[in-house]
Amino acid sequence: MFVSRNLGVNEKGNLTIGGVDTVELAKKYGTPLYVMDIDLVRENCRKYKEALKKYCKTDFLVCFASKSFCCKEIYKIINEEGLGVDTVSIGEMYTANKAGFPTEKMCLHGNNKTREELEYAVKNKIGRIVVDNLTELKNLNNIAKENNAKMDILLRIKPGVDAHVHEYVTTGTIDSKFGFALETDEAIDAVKEAISSSNLNLVGLHCHIGSQIFEIKPFLLAAEKMLNFIKNIKETTNYEILELNLGGGFGIPYVKEDVALNVENCIKEIASTIEEKSKKFGLKIPNLIIEPGRSIVAQAGITLYTVGGRKEISNGKIYISVDGGMTDNPRYILYKSVYDAVVANKASEKKEEKVSIAGKCCESGDLIGENVLLQRAKEGDVLAVLVTGAYNYSMLSNYNRNLNPAVVFVENKECKIAVKRQTLDDLLRNDI
Ligand SMILES: *Cc1c(COP(=O)(O)O)cnc(C)c1O
Repeated sequence: MFVSRNLGVNEKGNLTIGGVDTVELAKKYGTPLYVMDIDLVRENCRKYKEALKKYCKTDFLVCFASKSFCCKEIYKIINEEGLGVDTVSIGEMYTANKAGFPTEKMCLHGNNKTREELEYAVKNKIGRIVVDNLTELKNLNNIAKENNAKMDILLRIKPGVDAHVHEYVTTGTIDSKFGFALETDEAIDAVKEAISSSNLNLVGLHCHIGSQIFEIKPFLLAAEKMLNFIKNIKETTNYEILELNLGGGFGIPYVKEDVALNVENCIKEIASTIEEKSKKFGLKIPNLIIEPGRSIVAQAGITLYTVGGRKEISNGKIYISVDGGMTDNPRYILYKSVYDAVVANKASEKKEEKVSIAGKCCESGDLIGENVLLQRAKEGDVLAVLVTGAYNYSMLSNYNRNLNPAVVFVENKECKIAVKRQTLDDLLRNDI
């Protein structure tokens, strides 16, 4: 009935998540409210680990790309599940650190890491730095030298694979801002420079070809190109690359029409491609790292709003306004993302009208969706927008000085606050 199977309808006709009544949650914690089903987060973590365990003949690591959903409590869950994490800023590293996440299982990404971020990474012994460019390679080597450290690094490679996704989320093509291009000599030159850097240890190569990818083929193509490059490196420098990180981007369904990527098949094919190619080239099979973000948390999350006004335009368009918007979910205004929604207190009723869900911000583009099929909504109803666990909370803003919603975790049918709602005084904290 719903796009994710952790949602249901109880005897009161209310929407449930992880078996918990969402109307009760809205009443208890107020709206807007992010709700995360931690049982599903854990299940998703295990799905990746089990697939890798089954199909990889070498060591492997699943790193959760925490930019998709970042707060202290989620790092604790991810750590309990035995995953590593990707971080992309000092803020994410600090949050993970304060949550007790082991720094050796942290990986630092970014196309323009600041000196402060690199120093933090070196001083806190972050496990892997994925180096994006030559300036960073030089700076990191110097910082490591100043701190008598030797840092394990990977080089970010643009494999020249087009993953056929939204242009804002493709990252693997030659004109991307991320990494070293394979097509030119940029990548091999960077490898030589890395090998000769006194305080860096080149352990591997990294690529990430985009997000919301539904086909297996682009991943296999990327794996092949990377192995060709590893062979090329061995031939020209006699240096063997032992770790291959193929990034994230595994697609998930936002609405019922989307087909899910079969994770197990995808991992199986990736692992066999790597094994075959390595054998063919006489290479040691590299350890495999993958970095799912969205596919770990997206379906685990929903956002609850209270419905305000209803506006019927003479051309037939219906606006349903909610007490949040682009501040808590900027994905519509950024990507025209499509969402499914349910009137949570009327979840057993038939969906009978198509509406535009309007946020409360002073922008006409501030919508959660258009042409969303919905039960007839009126003031005071609770509206649930589904599949908001990824890139919603982590992208929120205080535009119009709206307050950031709380995040509630649901697990084993119990709920707890993971992040408190912002207060008016929080807004003024840094104003002088
Ligand atoms: C964003 C990102 C990911 C995660 O992508 P998802 O689409 O959320 O799975 C993984 N690796 C890198 C380097 C990224 O930038």
